[in-house]
Order: sequence, then structure tokens, then C-alpha cells
Amino acid sequence: MREIPLAKVSPEEYDVIVAGAGAGGLLTGLALTGSGKRVLVIERSDRLGGVWHGYWVDGYRVDQGLHVITRVTRGAFTQFLREFLPEPPKYVLHEGWYFRVGDRVATIPTSIGQTLRWPLTDLRGRLALARVGAKIKTMKLEEMKRYKDITFAEFLDHHNMTNQTIRDVIESAIYLAAGVGIDKASAYEALRTLKDTDREQSKLALLRRLLFGSLEYDEGYVIGGMIGLVEKVAEAINGDYVLNAPVEAIVERDGRVTGIEVAGDEIRHERVVSNIPLWSMPSIVQSQRNDVVNFFERWSHMHMTRGVTLWLGLDEVVVGDRKSRVIVHPRPSRWLVSISSFDPSCVPDGKELVAIATIAHPDLSLDEHVEMIKGGGLEKYYPRILEHVEMEHAQMSYATRAALIPGQTDLDRPGPRTPIRGLYIVGTDTAGAGVGLQQAANSARGVVRAVLDDMSGL
Ligand SMILES: Cc1cc2nc3c(=O)[nH]c(=O)nc-3n(C[C@H](O)[C@H](O)[C@H](O)COP(=O)(O)OP(=O)(O)OC[C@H]3O[C@@H](n4cnc5c(N)ncnc54)[C@H](O)[C@@H]3O)c2cc1C
Repeated sequence: MREIPLAKVSPEEYDVIVAGAGAGGLLTGLALTGSGKRVLVIERSDRLGGVWHGYWVDGYRVDQGLHVITRVTRGAFTQFLREFLPEPPKYVLHEGWYFRVGDRVATIPTSIGQTLRWPLTDLRGRLALARVGAKIKTMKLEEMKRYKDITFAEFLDHHNMTNQTIRDVIESAIYLAAGVGIDKASAYEALRTLKDTDREQSKLALLRRLLFGSLEYDEGYVIGGMIGLVEKVAEAINGDYVLNAPVEAIVERDGRVTGIEVAGDEIRHERVVSNIPLWSMPSIVQSQRNDVVNFFERWSHMHMTRGVTLWLGLDEVVVGDRKSRVIVHPRPSRWLVSISSFDPSCVPDGKELVAIATIAHPDLSLDEHVEMIKGGGLEKYYPRILEHVEMEHAQMSYATRAALIPGQTDLDRPGPRTPIRGLYIVGTDTAGAGVGLQQAANSARGVVRAVLDDMSGL
């Protein structure tokens, strides 16, 4: 894809217009390229990627957020890149999740044997965990769907899981995956996350996993960081993009999309994929039709998730391994990863880059979050990190446009089609299972399928 100015746009050169260059928009462009189509991407800001983003601060390459690629070997996002990028990126896997409760640290138990030896709780707690763990690991997807409208805390209450340590550890794990705590997360989405599968396993495979556990860690970091990944995807797309070009209106006539308005000019086109957040769409879609107005109004109230990430550049290597460390107390939990241990190209020689992420509290400022992250967690358990800081950079933003709460699970989404023919929606609030980049990839697959079907008259 190459950048062009708005004045140079000739809409007839493109098969599809993509409004918004976040992960959903770019992955749509990539898959359409794979089908021989050419796209025009119109982006409001001065760069591509949306919240999928990275940049340099004082010689350290930070991402927007602690971005970990989940399900590297079998997930929707990496499959998408393997299928559509000429040269897929390289990943380095984690060495596992380590949860800290006070002075004790343990991984997530993956078998009954491990659960019964788990050091973070007493025997009663372990037995309760083994019972609930076995229930979750053997539960079918259809049964999980029955719990989509209750929270995971309600599910745990229902199964008499009252042990506070276990609830707190599960809360931390669910927060990392769903961006909300167990009192808000949909039980269906939490159960899918904990079972860690999108597909059913054979009974034998399940039994084997339950008895012997699994040491597979399928999360990792991508060499080159998020900035490298976005560049790779943008390079592979067949088409052009325009920056600093907010879409002011999406125009409908007689039930069909006729184009978009940018800087007062209409770019006429009969096929538009919008990656603009659904919360903005009621003011952008220009239509008098009730079904259209109601549709966009109905889906404009998605609750997002918000995260804070503190990046610390250290003048020497202090952590130096690829473990994902979760400090369960004090709450909210903090997640600490040494990014340069995965990819040393993000730091000057001999230095280290550490990222610490936490859920954003609505009443706290960014500075207050930074104080909270450093105090209690870092000061107490990792004081050496604080002694070696030479670069400090903090971020707060939305991470995903629809938290996985009741009413917003992948079973409750509106996309990819809209009541306007030729107008499609993509992104983390529109459709697609999973969370973050998995979800963006799944939603892009859905929208591309719909566009291609409609283009071929199916
Ligand atoms: C802190 C943080 C941590 C994360 N960690 C992970 C992780 O570990 N693993 C993971 O898989 N994912 C992670 N993610 C999530 C993932 O990056 C996002 O969920 C995903 O990139 C969002 O994609 P989206 O398609 O919803 O688009 P968005 O990023 O919302 O993009 C929308 C785009 O539309 C543009 N736009 C908006 N309005 C207009 C307009 N009127 N005209 C033109 N353009 C417009 C915006 O500028 C933006 O570029 C994280 C994100 C953050 C911020």
C-alpha cells in the first residue's frame, strides 16, 4: 500500500473502500488483496494501526500496550498472517504464566495432579479447584453458551467456589484475557478462555490433558514488535491509503451505500467496509431509514476495556527471562514482562525493556496509575527494577472496543453486514470470537467472506 493525498483519490480504481486503519481494517485489506482485490484505506489519524501500534521513546521501542500474541501456533490471528503475508513474522514463545500471591509463586495447574499440589492455597482450596477445573475442562461449547448472560463470578458462586485466593488468581487470568474482572466477564467467554480452545477435543485427548496436564505455552511476542507487524501488513496490501482524513459521513440512498464524505468531499463507491468504532457510527451514517437508525443506535453502546501500561527502560538487565509474571495482590493485578528478553532489538545493547500492565480504574489519572503500579507490587517484589530505571513511559487507552461481558459476547454481535447494502462493519466490537487481535482477525474473515459473496452475487 502506498500513501496518497486525498486530492489524488480516484475511487473507480478500487474494489472496496475501508474506512479506518485499525487491526480490523488492515486485516480486511490484507485478505481482500489475497483475493485479487484492490482497496483504498481512509484513516482519521496520522498513522496506520489504530490501537495496534508501536513507537520509539529515548532509544527503546515500546508498543501501545503489553501486546502478546495469543495462540501462536493455532490461533486465528497467526493463521491469518500465515495465509496472507508473503513472509509471516517470527514469534518467540513465553516460558509460562507465574502468579504471585504474597511470597508464593505458582503456574496455572494444568492437570489434576498439579492442582492437588498447588502451593497457593490449602488442601480444601485445591480440592475445590480440582472439582471446578475438571468441570470446565470437560464442558462442551454448547453448555458454555448457556452461561453467556451471567457473569463468571455468578458461575463460581453457583459452583460453590468461595476460596478467595483461587477467585483472585482466576480474576487475574480472566482480566488478562477479557479485559474485565470476573464480576463483569461473561461466564461463557471466561469458560472458553480457561478451557483455552475454540474447538472440541476428543474424550481421550481431554482425559490425557486432565490427568497429565500440558506444558504447551502458546503465547509469544513478535520479533520487530507491533510497529514491525503493522508495517508488514500495510506493505502487503494492494491499494492506497490516505492519512489525516476523518470520515465525516457514510452516505446511503435507497438502502444502498453510495460513498463516504471526507473533508467535505464525497468519495463515491458502492462498497464500504467501516472499521470505525460502533460508538461513533450513529453520527456518521447518514440515513433517514428507521431500520438503519435503530441498528446503529442499538449497537453504539458497547462497553470498551481500558488498560494502562508502564514501560521501563533499565540501564542493565534485571529480569532477563521470558516469563509472564502476574502479581495478584495488591489489586488490581499487574502483569509484568521483560519484552527485550523476547526481542533484544527493542533496546540499546546491554539494556532491558520491561512492561507492566494493569486494568485502568475509571477514577484514577495516568499518574495515579503509575504510582499504584510502582507501589506495593514493584516496590515490594521487584525493587531492583526501580533502582535501574533510565526511561519511563506510561500509556492509557482502550484495548478492545467490546469487553466480553454479558450482552457483548461473540454470540451477541451485529456484523459483518448492516441494513445498508454494500456497507459492512469490522473491528473488535462488530463480530468475531476471541479478544484483541484474534477477534480482529476473526471479524476481518467474516467481513471479507460477506464482501466476496456479495460481489460474486451469491
Ligand atoms: C493496552 C493494549 C494492550 C493490548 N494487548 C493485546 C494483546 O496482548 N493481545 C492482543 O491480541 N490484542 C491486544 N490488544 C488489542 C488489540 O490491539 C486491539 O483490540 C485491536 O487492535 C483493535 O482493533 P480494531 O479493529 O477494533 O480497531 P481500532 O484500533 O479501534 O481502530 C479503528 C481505526 O479507525 C480509525 N477511525 C476512527 N474514526 C474514524 C473516522 N471517522 N474516519 C476514519 N478513521 C477513523 C481510528 O483512528 C483507528 O485507526 C491490546 C490493545 C491495547 C491498546
